[in-house]
Amino acid sequence: MPENIAPLPDFTRWPSFPFEGDMRVKPLADPVEVEPPRSGEDAADCVACNTPDESYIWVSERWRVRAMDRPTGLPMVLILECRSHLDIGDLPNLLAAELGVMTVRLERAVRSLDGVARVHVNRWGDGSAHLHMWFLARPYGRLQLRGTFLTLWDDILPVIPEQQWRENLAHVAAWLAEFGGKAIAEPPHIQWESPSTITYTDTEPAEQPAAPPPAEVPQPNTLNDVNRQQSPVDGPISESIPTQRTAQDPGATSTPQAQAPSHS
Ligand SMILES: [Zn+2]
Repeated sequence: MPENIAPLPDFTRWPSFPFEGDMRVKPLADPVEVEPPRSGEDAADCVACNTPDESYIWVSERWRVRAMDRPTGLPMVLILECRSHLDIGDLPNLLAAELGVMTVRLERAVRSLDGVARVHVNRWGDGSAHLHMWFLARPYGRLQLRGTFLTLWDDILPVIPEQQWRENLAHVAAWLAEFGGKAIAEPPHIQWESPSTITYTDTEPAEQPAAPPPAEVPQPNTLNDVNRQQSPVDGPISESIPTQRTAQDPGATSTPQAQAPSHS
């Protein structure tokens, strides 16, 4: 099997490569004659088009931003979608221009979070047909996580505390709302019980208005879930690029107003 004796590529020796030990290259599967349709090629079956605004952290007339359904290893993983059922190459000029603005704006919003050094912006598009751009925050100081393998590290790192995750979501939503649209995610409510009576739950704090949606709404759980099953989102449209800026939006005179690793 020639495939199995292929030398390992150089990247397996990069400091950022998450694995060590004995490995071998997988045999390459034969190419298919005709590729299968992606998830949601038809708008009627599209998860994005059929997911309500309440499942997002911020929405506007033409764009929506959502999170995974639970915290993961990275400080923040977000997905930017247009409401129109389009892929990136099909965007009309207005949406194409706004995509640039939204990408810059969401990158700034995520980078403004405490402990975030860099925001990786990715678009794969192999899983779901509806345009979805991934924004992945790399923790400050974690040089080992720099670059290509960040999406893998997301599933390896210890999960960040849910409270912090919800605060981060609310922060990003509020930041985006400064330029228009509506913030959906809210800061977690403070629990006033005395320490001795606090009940800790690892997963779903009973009342957290913020974030993502309950199970009935099909949506990506985490990056890896997406890779495994592929699920994205999208919906309707409207909103224009704001012409005025605020102190938070460093862009110059024309700054207007952000699915992923495993990305598919
Ligand atoms: Zn769609």
